[in-house]
Amino acid sequence: MFDLREELDILESKGLRRKLSLLESVQAEEIIIEGKNCLNLCSNNYLGLASEPRLKAAAIEAIKNYGLGSGASRLVCGNHRLYKELEEKIAEFKETPSSLVFNSGYAANLGIISVLVDEKDIVFSDKLNHASIIDGILLSRAKFRRYPHKDIEALEAMLKDSGNFRRRLIVTDTVFSMDGDIAPLTEIVELARKYNAKVMVDEAHATGVFGKSGRGIVEHFNLKNEIFIQMGTLSKAIGCLGAYVCAGKDTIDYLINKARSLIYTTALPPAILAASIKAVEIIQQEPERRKVLFENAEFFRSNLRRFGLNTLDSQSPIIPVVVGRVDLAVEFSKRLFNEGIFCPAIRPPTVPKGDARLRMTVMATHKKEHLEFALEKIKKIAKDLGLL
Ligand SMILES: *Cc1c(COP(=O)(O)O)cnc(C)c1O
Repeated sequence: MFDLREELDILESKGLRRKLSLLESVQAEEIIIEGKNCLNLCSNNYLGLASEPRLKAAAIEAIKNYGLGSGASRLVCGNHRLYKELEEKIAEFKETPSSLVFNSGYAANLGIISVLVDEKDIVFSDKLNHASIIDGILLSRAKFRRYPHKDIEALEAMLKDSGNFRRRLIVTDTVFSMDGDIAPLTEIVELARKYNAKVMVDEAHATGVFGKSGRGIVEHFNLKNEIFIQMGTLSKAIGCLGAYVCAGKDTIDYLINKARSLIYTTALPPAILAASIKAVEIIQQEPERRKVLFENAEFFRSNLRRFGLNTLDSQSPIIPVVVGRVDLAVEFSKRLFNEGIFCPAIRPPTVPKGDARLRMTVMATHKKEHLEFALEKIKKIAKDLGLL
């Protein structure tokens, strides 16, 4: 009945079986993984904050004062005052009236979307949006329209003939997690106005990275008063765990009352909240981290392009190297590992069929020598595999 072994064998035969790799070091630009010292070329810890001494100190202090687990849901007795402090800090940082912290980006998208819309409503979603957005929409039972990636004309056509719905919501990643490109948010906001829709953005890969003050793509395009809901994570550039939602006070209050992934789950540990507060402060105070990150990304990407590799329209520290076939991507990754570089192959269904790739990410803490080393090995392997 449960022929799971068989299903695993099918995945294996297609080269699509996933496995966990064992990390035995700190999460940083150099790691020990699967027993080997490697250069880390796949972390979302863009600013290196996951091992920042001031974050560690803040977490240790919170553990000394408040212990480990939070004991209950936020709606019972788990709503530590550090939540209040963090949410005030995030609202101030993002220049929004109010914010709310969830346990993860996945939980946030599921919880927000599934209670904002229902059968009476319609959601327009970029085809390459994150899985958590898709799952949130499916859970909501709203009418679900996916528009081709960043295709404003297609989105307009869908909005135009969408018929009668109570609420219309357009949802988009701002920086796309597998392609590293940026949503045409100014145009999306214009369409939303024209067709009476609201916009929700997922800034998971933009928070702490984009915008003059690190607030994300909404800041980058100067759209802060145009967005209904901004969500982002505390798990990527922020270096911790959790997610935030920024919106008006009524929206936040509604989520506190309705969002099941907030209500029916235990609150985050105080130590994570304390470290996140410190991370947001560092992001506000140390813009040079972002500057170095973008210099590294530019250096790395321009060299990959010079080699003739397909990095799509990457405009961020996420730099895909698309190779197409699954077996090629897996072999590329294996050879990189043999050379001391960790970057697993990204395969369908995480990316569309025929778009298997290495999703490379650079960090602010990568040194020039790290990137030069990686470029040399990548060039050699790509050549051997006939990709150049
Ligand atoms: C990583 C990611 C999430 C999920 O965030 P977690 O905190 O890892 O659960 C949501 N949206 C996007 C675009 C992401 O890249």
